[in-house]
Amino acid sequence: MATQVRGEIVSEIPPHLFPPPAEVRPKPSAKAKKKLIRRTDHDYSQITRRTFQGAFLLLNVWIGGIFYFWVRQYEPGGAPTSWQRPAGVEGWLPIAGLMNLKYFVLTHRVPALHPAGMFLLISFLAMSFLFRKAFCSWLCPVGTISEYLWRAGQMLFRRNFHLPHWLDVGLRGLKYLLLGFFVWAVSSMAVDELAAFMNSPYGVIADVKMLNFFRHLGETGAIVLGVLVVASLFIQNFWCRYLCPYGALLGITSLVSPARIRRNVETCIDCAKCAKVCPSALPVDKLVAIKSAECTGCLECVAVCPAKDTLSLSLPKIPGLVSQAPRVPVWAMAAGIAVLFFGIVGFAKTSGYWDSHVPHAIYQQLLPHADEARHPMPGEN
Ligand code: SF4
Ligand code: SF4
Repeated sequence: MATQVRGEIVSEIPPHLFPPPAEVRPKPSAKAKKKLIRRTDHDYSQITRRTFQGAFLLLNVWIGGIFYFWVRQYEPGGAPTSWQRPAGVEGWLPIAGLMNLKYFVLTHRVPALHPAGMFLLISFLAMSFLFRKAFCSWLCPVGTISEYLWRAGQMLFRRNFHLPHWLDVGLRGLKYLLLGFFVWAVSSMAVDELAAFMNSPYGVIADVKMLNFFRHLGETGAIVLGVLVVASLFIQNFWCRYLCPYGALLGITSLVSPARIRRNVETCIDCAKCAKVCPSALPVDKLVAIKSAECTGCLECVAVCPAKDTLSLSLPKIPGLVSQAPRVPVWAMAAGIAVLFFGIVGFAKTSGYWDSHVPHAIYQQLLPHADEARHPMPGEN
């Protein structure tokens, strides 16, 4: 037998010189596709969460408005008002809340000035323990505005942007640095120093100073605010993710929370929709449970997951007792947040601990000169 090569007749090549034919194998695929068992329940998490956000934003606007008119009556040209000072404004004084919490823990006495700030802080810490950093995505007005800004950015530019990983990690550390500074400052103060600070003119009208900061925003303040707004259009939750020390404190608290977003790897089809919508850029599709301090319990990932019984906020399994991680339904989370907020605020109000008992005459004396009140320095009384 002979073989023709380029028109020449050559003798047959012995078969043992040929490599054996390659075994025909199916092309390896990255992962065997799992069958989607589609969920049939309707998800109410986002409408519920947005209702909470809207209601809390309105509550803050209402409180801010009353507080403004209450302050104005003490200023030259201001008209008298029958409104009482709304103590809820102390939710905007997180450092005072922290100082008062330390004072309360050490003395077992409810502080006389700005106690509402402390009760609100306790309520938000309790929420973080039970429902991750839910305060940030369900209640915080700054969180709500941030969310609407990045959604607006998404509509305008058709996308949001992610910073490079090294920069993102570095910037995320900033909020912990700020928190560390405030915790260090508060923890280094003795009980009598805390009381002296709160009773100083600056401490008494710290809320008015905060209001005036926004009312009389200087050039630097306006530029910083402008930069934050623009950055928030491009980067999801820019302020919350990188700079908010309050969120950092709640995030650290949430680390010990038994409730976590948990993924059932058996039924998950690895579509990665959950990771794509996560505003905290967490790799939800790769993890079994989200332990990160960045998880705000917004449930966006749960809302978008197409697979039945796959992604949920749930409690841990109890071996020998509960074989499946018990889920926390949306209604239970919403009810829990409402109970913690109204329960703690209601307790403080009905027990007479909610309001700062400052005589009218003191406000008459301090408020017209609010801009002159300066922060007491260490050692000053
Ligand atoms: S993991 Fe889910 S609940 Fe947590 S922040 Fe991301 S989307 Fe929200
Ligand atoms: S959304 Fe996430 S958890 Fe749900 S199926 Fe897709 S990858 Fe899995």
